[in-house]
Amino acid sequence: MARYNVLYFCTACRRIHPMGVSLPLEVGFLNTQTVSEAYSGKPLPSYVAMLVGSSVTCRETGKSFILEDINKLYLTPVLEPLSRDSKRA
Ligand SMILES: [Zn+2]
Repeated sequence: MARYNVLYFCTACRRIHPMGVSLPLEVGFLNTQTVSEAYSGKPLPSYVAMLVGSSVTCRETGKSFILEDINKLYLTPVLEPLSRDSKRA
């Protein structure tokens, strides 16, 4: 199992921001992929599908909006050791 951070394409500033959510994935990959690419040919787990429709706030502009498009969600490998995961600021 590899862990991936979820990133979203921000419609407010047209950049990619981290959602602060990470997901375990059975199939590993090293480059950032869209969620639909990462799960191609596989059923989308409900906790991934649920990310669509959630509200996010842009760090740059402070605007919030609803994530509507699964193709604008990305996964990028978590490179830090897992022990750091439990440490929260
Ligand atoms: Zn933004």
